[in-house]
Amino acid sequence: VWITLEGGDGSGKTTQAELLERWLIDQGHTVLRTREPGGSEVGQLIRDIVLHHRGDIAPRAEALLYAADRAHHVATVVRPALERGEVVLQDRYLDSSVAYQGAGRVLDATEIRDLSLWATDGALPDLTLLLDLDPSVARARLDSADKPFDRLEAEKLDFHTRVRRAYLALADGAPERFLILDAAAPAEEIAAAARDRVASLL
Ligand code: C5P
Ligand code: MG
Repeated sequence: VWITLEGGDGSGKTTQAELLERWLIDQGHTVLRTREPGGSEVGQLIRDIVLHHRGDIAPRAEALLYAADRAHHVATVVRPALERGEVVLQDRYLDSSVAYQGAGRVLDATEIRDLSLWATDGALPDLTLLLDLDPSVARARLDSADKPFDRLEAEKLDFHTRVRRAYLALADGAPERFLILDAAAPAEEIAAAARDRVASLL
């Protein structure tokens, strides 16, 4: 079973991944927790470029870097774990690319999706948990976290508003794969809703 977590920066994906991982382990499952970009050694190198490079990266080059990270990650980490029968719990996947490289960088959403599907030979998760949050609330959370912003987090509110809209449109287009969660709710409440849906998959 393959579960991905999606949502804007500051929407609480990491907190939810931790809560869900703990619950899955309590239920007796073997869990592989991973993320994109950076879920493999090659991916770590790519993550460093896309998050920490000083200056602009051409939007198509950026899209290809994320796609390269994803191709290697799915081939060497995700598929093998799924074949071993593990539950893969993954922070970000192709919906991030459609939202960030597509809506954020204003590339064609279908092309970005097709690029990603080519990169992974068509791999799609069983369930995608979308943590939906107003970008100005997310921004306030990131501000109070007191960490330096990475390249994308530093983007203008308008960029993050496009990202949010794209995520909601993706969820609308594939309701059987997505569960939209109100990321403004208390973490435990969100986790309970996520668990209900995950339980129906296991
Ligand atoms: O979720 P995490 O903080 O690890 O993601 C790293 C950064 O990369 C985020 O700021 C996110 O906005 C960005 N990102 C992106 N396109 C992707 C995946 C992540 O712009 N496909
Ligand atoms: Mg982040």
